[in-house]
Amino acid sequence: MRLTIVGCSGSFAGPDSPASCYLVRAEHQGRTWNLVLDLGNGALGALQRHIDLMDIDAVVLTHLHADHCLDLCGLYVVQKHRPDVAIRARIPVYGPVGTAGRMARAYDLTPPDGMDNEFDFRELADRRPVRIGPFTVTPYLVRHPGTAFGLRVEGDGEVLAYSGDTDSCDGLNALFHNASLALADSAFVDGRDQSAGIHLSGSRAAQAAVDAGGVRRLMLTHIPSWNDPALCQGQAAAVWPGDVELARPDAVYEL
Ligand SMILES: [Zn+2]
Ligand SMILES: [Zn+2]
Repeated sequence: MRLTIVGCSGSFAGPDSPASCYLVRAEHQGRTWNLVLDLGNGALGALQRHIDLMDIDAVVLTHLHADHCLDLCGLYVVQKHRPDVAIRARIPVYGPVGTAGRMARAYDLTPPDGMDNEFDFRELADRRPVRIGPFTVTPYLVRHPGTAFGLRVEGDGEVLAYSGDTDSCDGLNALFHNASLALADSAFVDGRDQSAGIHLSGSRAAQAAVDAGGVRRLMLTHIPSWNDPALCQGQAAAVWPGDVELARPDAVYEL
């Protein structure tokens, strides 16, 4: 299983990275499967550096904040109007309840069809796994405004555990347990950001990984451009016993 960081800038696109988007790839049945986790602002452009948009097998949205879903509007245009593709299958799009309506409004589409001819919208439910080619994706409800999930992606005997946006919560224990790589929200800075129930900080991300048990690698992501990433990394390193990695745009990791 290969993880490509398409976008990792927190809350909005930064000068060096789009907002949240991660490409997970694995070989299965004689071809490469492409799973896209979140599709935030700016991500659709960067994604094309890595794959042809026609080769997306499924999109999974952790939640419906703009920085995690808005570039589905661009993919809708590709699905509907790309001139060199005659017949195009609907792409499965998994997300919280209300995803289809949310995306139709984002594009300012009028009812009744919305994006239903381009995408096959399917609802995520807490701890109910979905099978996508070689991947088993299990969503876990996390602690963030609105309905938000973390995603546990299993394939090739490896586990990618992506927190989505969350503060500390019970769901992270099962989500992160024995993960090959825990990819954790680290938007907040200890001592600066006091709001509860929105984001992890470096130290809280590390504590969640420690508490879950068996996590092999910890990688911080969703750091907004106004943060000093080294500060977040240092706050995590005070808690995490190993190396604290930072998600880098366009980097590819073998799990
Ligand atoms: Zn976010
Ligand atoms: Zn959010």
